[in-house]
Amino acid sequence: MEAMFADELEGNIYSRFSNPNVTELIEKIKLLEGAEAGWATATGMAAIFSTFGALLSQGDHVLACRSVFGSTHNILTKILPSWGIETTFVDFDDTKNWDKAVRKRTKLIFVETPTNPGVDIIDLKWLGEFSSAHHLINMVDNCFATPYLQQPIKYGTDLVIHSATKYLDGQGRVLGGLIAGKKHLIEKINGFARHSGPALAPFNAWVISKSLETLAVRMDRHCENALSLSQRLERLSQIELVKYPFLPSHPQYKVAKKQMNAGEGIISFVIAGGFKRACIFLDHLDLVSLTANLGDTRSIATHPVSTTHAKLPTPDRIAIGISPGLIRLSIGLEHVDDLYEDIEQALRLGH
Ligand SMILES: *Cc1c(COP(=O)(O)O)cnc(C)c1O
Repeated sequence: MEAMFADELEGNIYSRFSNPNVTELIEKIKLLEGAEAGWATATGMAAIFSTFGALLSQGDHVLACRSVFGSTHNILTKILPSWGIETTFVDFDDTKNWDKAVRKRTKLIFVETPTNPGVDIIDLKWLGEFSSAHHLINMVDNCFATPYLQQPIKYGTDLVIHSATKYLDGQGRVLGGLIAGKKHLIEKINGFARHSGPALAPFNAWVISKSLETLAVRMDRHCENALSLSQRLERLSQIELVKYPFLPSHPQYKVAKKQMNAGEGIISFVIAGGFKRACIFLDHLDLVSLTANLGDTRSIATHPVSTTHAKLPTPDRIAIGISPGLIRLSIGLEHVDDLYEDIEQALRLGH
């Protein structure tokens, strides 16, 4: 027992440290991501925050892609600066600026690909080379793609982060977070997390473990529905722009095809007529629900300007392409014709 408390001997002595259900889930994410080690947390944000907390110290500098999840942006811009850790945000596609932004104390690079909500794609191979050239810890939020579609570790990523709340559970039942990657980094995260307490509940770990059994089937359907809908939406006159990684019109289509097995389940599009038209459209949706969640069995529409990215200063929002008419659609497992019918009627009523 003394050796277990000293973390010298493995054993389940207290569930903040380890638990058989949680260990089973960690084994699964390790296998799925092709990682040496893994860790589980109560939420996706706890995974991100524990990683920053464990690996960064005063004076360190972080590089991040400009478009990151709202709460991640909040940690980087509000919490870490008070501890003397600064972040520079760089446009995902501007490789020259990434080089310029590196400082002597740059320790870690954080990206999402596809990004939220614009589904922009960052070249993981380039990222791996860039990070190793500058000796940076390379951290990828793989929430949108899941390991079924994309395995960043193959391209040199050190740590992969997941909000298991999204596709990994995929059924809107539990919150969870997962980290997979290099053993020496996971050991540091373990050291931080076992005392600071963001542990994943054993019941939630069991639910997510069961959910992984259907991940492939669900992702196939999410992707098939999303590709078909994005192609149909591109033909509608009420829509100015459709962005979906596996549409040839997507600016990083070739990179997406290279590093992803399918285009994932999120479509973003801009409604002609801006804020007012977007609100009318959302009010008329019937089958598609309105929430800020994503990666669920049921389709969800989100209006980033008024919800997930409302707190972002307007210039930052414009810089990452969040216009008043932007809608993020998380495509569920419903019949694709039912989804199209609902979206099409809401667009028609709104115009
Ligand atoms: C939802 C989400 C998170 C945060 O996950 P929680 O489980 O809600 O804490 C982080 N990154 C991305 C891309 C997300 O969509």
